[in-house]
Amino acid sequence: MTQSPQLVIDFTKVNRSDVNIVGGKNASLGEMISTLAPKGILVPPGFATTADAFRAYLTSNTLEDAIADHLAALAAGRIDLHAAGQKIRALILGGDWPAATAEAILTHYRALGQTVKQTDAPVAVRSSATAEDLPDASFAGQQETFLNVSGEAALLDACKRCYASLYTDRAISYRQIQGFAHDQVALSVGVQLMVRADTGGSGVMFSIDTESGFPDAVLINAAWGLGENVVQGAVDPDEYQVFKPFLNNPKLTPILAKRLGAKTIKMIHDRDGTPRNVPTSRAERQRFVLSDSEILDLARQAKIIEDHYGQPMDMEWARDGGTRILYIVQARPETVQSRADLGTLKSYAVQKPGPVLLKGLSVGSAAVAGRVSIIESADDIARFVEGSVLVTSTTDPDWVPIMKRAAAIVTDHGGRTSHAAIVSRELGLPAIVGCGNATHILHDEQDVTVSCANGEEGIVSEGLSEITVTEESLKILPHTHTKVMLNLANPSAALRWWRLPTEGVGLARMEFVINSEVRIHPMALAHIDQVSDPKAVAEIERLTEGYDSKPAYFVDRLSRGLSRIAAFCYPKPVIVRMSDFKTNEYADLLGGHDFEPHEENPMIGFRGASRYYSDRYRDGFALECQAIARLRGQMGFDNVVVMIPFCRTPEEADKVLAVMAEHGLKRGQNGLQVYVMCEIPSNVLRAKEFAERFDGFSIGSNDLTQLTLGIDRDSDALAALFREDDPAVLWMIETVIREAHKVGSKVGFCGQAPSNDPTYAQHLVGFGIDTISVTPDSFVQVLRNVAKAETAD
Ligand code: PEP
Ligand code: MG
Repeated sequence: MTQSPQLVIDFTKVNRSDVNIVGGKNASLGEMISTLAPKGILVPPGFATTADAFRAYLTSNTLEDAIADHLAALAAGRIDLHAAGQKIRALILGGDWPAATAEAILTHYRALGQTVKQTDAPVAVRSSATAEDLPDASFAGQQETFLNVSGEAALLDACKRCYASLYTDRAISYRQIQGFAHDQVALSVGVQLMVRADTGGSGVMFSIDTESGFPDAVLINAAWGLGENVVQGAVDPDEYQVFKPFLNNPKLTPILAKRLGAKTIKMIHDRDGTPRNVPTSRAERQRFVLSDSEILDLARQAKIIEDHYGQPMDMEWARDGGTRILYIVQARPETVQSRADLGTLKSYAVQKPGPVLLKGLSVGSAAVAGRVSIIESADDIARFVEGSVLVTSTTDPDWVPIMKRAAAIVTDHGGRTSHAAIVSRELGLPAIVGCGNATHILHDEQDVTVSCANGEEGIVSEGLSEITVTEESLKILPHTHTKVMLNLANPSAALRWWRLPTEGVGLARMEFVINSEVRIHPMALAHIDQVSDPKAVAEIERLTEGYDSKPAYFVDRLSRGLSRIAAFCYPKPVIVRMSDFKTNEYADLLGGHDFEPHEENPMIGFRGASRYYSDRYRDGFALECQAIARLRGQMGFDNVVVMIPFCRTPEEADKVLAVMAEHGLKRGQNGLQVYVMCEIPSNVLRAKEFAERFDGFSIGSNDLTQLTLGIDRDSDALAALFREDDPAVLWMIETVIREAHKVGSKVGFCGQAPSNDPTYAQHLVGFGIDTISVTPDSFVQVLRNVAKAETAD
């Protein structure tokens, strides 16, 4: 007796090797349900129809030959794609369910309902093709999904429509292009209890950073309502980033970034159950979809799933509006970064960019100049001009053929996990998503430059700018005794340097992070009542909305900004220098004018250490200290070293160290190291006294040259005389290294000189410097020069 084929199979009995039986998507759901539940991964229960059930459906309705005939007619050009697709789908929809299959589906459906004590339980009905989720991610999402299906007749109908969707026009053409035999692909239907995400939230997450491929960060997107809007890019979701290595420690909150998305719409169920988009309320738009503990919970799940599969993963999640339980509703391998060539590092720079036209979220790190082609709807795809910059509202799988022919992609809506972002990344194109109104601001045939080169913010600027590309091989880099580190200031681009073999960060200038992440003067946040400009007050109120207090805004934004710089090379040291704006620059921060004196010579004025213990800035410095304490404590980045700039005397150093200790940053406590900049001749002349007070020095050649030679570092007229290799300057450097080493203190170098001229590193190696810190673009060159100097010794 031959055994009758299994038509329906419960997810608890499916695992990832069952792709031939239930397709990639359902095999993955089954794998998680059957093996990851004990580890705390919740996937809504359900069942899948098998590939055999699909074939039995075709056979019992004698559809195979008819389908083959239509496909043959299409291949021979006797009918077009649209007609062939329509005919085949009609044939499938017109079939009858074989009694055994219908019975098997309904028996499982009733049993599923019983688990929640509900007849006609609402379910999600999803298609899973047996050749789906191949390396090419643009194949995903080809077939239909039906949400909130309730009742036996409706379920059978939805299953049939999933079957028909194996022959959507785009699925047929995709198989043709990829060379898949149509009759070798079967469709399995997954039926799962609905998560009430319509009243909750949902989104997508990746277990690595999608842009840089940094393996230690989870990226989560979240929106209100059902998840389809996030996947399609119809909504601008919240975005969160979490540092994975700290997730095992329940005391830490390693959330590297939280970006509030516009979330103007949400998908809910209509009265008759069909999904539909409605506008969100103001309160919903202003709130993060996920709490911090939910962000960490999801990130932990991402890590468990990634560990289980042994590779980076791309997942969908949903939160039930009633129970607030978080579910994973899909998991598949990440396909772009995990296949990227790790041997080279390409960086792009836009020369003389024109005025900024638009900003959005950058995808990738490339830049391109080209001509705009605006396509408002998929019907106009034929109008697309080959090789131009595709500007559109959102994209879906129908758009892939023109996306492949675009130079860059710019969209009004969508986050980093939207269809447009995923396909662009896969195609290696620069894309800027979620620009808001690109389709209105730009116009056809306009010349623009699209740049993702500056970090997370993508910029469209006017005109065709020249773009330079540098490509460095990371394969054969020398190993050096002198440590080479990075000078970093842009948190949004920090993660992309993870592949450079850096020994850490030698200089992270806090003032740059305040400028980009905080924008408000810390004293204005500590004393908003003293801000006289009503416009500044209004803007400060707007920016700090949703935070517990104004000082809390500063501490939160600054610590998170710095955390990305601290994360990419953890546990290597990251030296964060306390703020070193000049008074005129502090005054330019929002609300800053009321707190800063006018100075004729800000460069040698109220800057650096002298501010930190002064009544004029003490409260602002307290906030800087709190941000560092949070970064090292609550967030877990104990690799962060603090550095004091522009410290004129040892007595001043004592005062600053005392103020720091008051704010929880006591040198030596919890491993805290404190460095001092060596950038004033007094730092060299009294090196021993400074060395006794600090863990090390970092030489700032910009100020040290300025103050040794008496040349304004910003003067064009004197630029030729401003030489860091002047004997007087070299004497200063050599002397401080010698004096510091006598008492066992370390000396690094973080001025601009070796970044501008990599051969300068050879002087420093000759003097016995311990570390040299340079900008990322010159890192490889400097490393080579250091190696050369070391072997010449
Ligand atoms: C320097 O002075 O060399 C230095 C690194 O500090 P800044 O350029 O920020 O003054
Ligand atoms: Mg300096």
